[in-house]
Amino acid sequence: MYDNRPRPRGDDWKFKDRSKMTRAQKVIVDRKILNRSAAEYDYPKLQGKVPVNLEWSQHMTLFPLAMIPIVARWLFMRLTGWTVHPVILYMLTVVFNSHFTRQHFYRLRRYVETYGFLDGEVERDSIPESMVGKLYNEMLNGLLGRPLMVIFLSYDRTKLPTLSWWLPLQLAVFTIIADFVYYWVHRATHEIPWLWKFHRLHHTTKHPSSYLLGFADEPQEFFDALGTPILTYLAYPIGFDAFYIWSLYFNSIEIMGHSGVRAYYPGVLTSILLRPFGAEIVVEDHDLHHRFGWRDSHNYGKQSMLWDTLFGTASNRVETRAENIDWDSRVQ
Ligand SMILES: [Zn+2]
Ligand SMILES: [Zn+2]
Repeated sequence: MYDNRPRPRGDDWKFKDRSKMTRAQKVIVDRKILNRSAAEYDYPKLQGKVPVNLEWSQHMTLFPLAMIPIVARWLFMRLTGWTVHPVILYMLTVVFNSHFTRQHFYRLRRYVETYGFLDGEVERDSIPESMVGKLYNEMLNGLLGRPLMVIFLSYDRTKLPTLSWWLPLQLAVFTIIADFVYYWVHRATHEIPWLWKFHRLHHTTKHPSSYLLGFADEPQEFFDALGTPILTYLAYPIGFDAFYIWSLYFNSIEIMGHSGVRAYYPGVLTSILLRPFGAEIVVEDHDLHHRFGWRDSHNYGKQSMLWDTLFGTASNRVETRAENIDWDSRVQ
């Protein structure tokens, strides 16, 4: 067992004298990455039916923002006749993605402060001082690595930005393939004894928060951030702009999946297709994977429950089971 595992009230270090903080600690406090602890904020402990945040509502907040860099590049190319060098595009993308991700973090924090957490009697885990540097590096690696991968694999500076009318289907298929890769690698780390050591750290949190999504041993971090998307892209290459939108959405779903928000909050890219088969993923699915999952586990998918449903590893929901959903109450 790790001594440095995330735990409730693990983040007391954030109250210490600022002059004694490391650079990583200052950045994490200044950017308001952490949730407020139960001592700082009285999270609602709701018992009744859960509200919903359906896909169209999620798209309304995510899609217009995701389109800004694409429209901006299209306008720039049309108006000037110039192209955008990949290095310039990379730098701009890192800045924009940082903004996009932070907005999503803040949105989810507003939701948990309004609707509370799943298993709300138990305080969510936080990050101990000894692991802040690691958390900071993970965030930096994700922020710098994914856009680099997307641009390196798919960017052609001579092409005007283009999106297909089939974009929703393209992104859904891409996500289902990515989740197939993720499902089997994730399941293997649980079931093959010598692979467990690469995944154990991620499971030291039983009640995660959004910022713990990448809290993992380095091989897992690398494979989750880059390995899965690269293998998926090689199997199903899509255009740069679609791939870029997918990378933003993919990250948003990972953040949402670790948020613990007490709502029926489905994965935005595949749930319309999969809900009729009862195979859509919601926040509670991965939350239960953390809460009850150790070596012997279930709910291995992170973007859908399709593969868990097909291969018999899906578990029953507790608070977001069908009869406990209030379809008329919308998360906002
Ligand atoms: Zn796991
Ligand atoms: Zn997780």
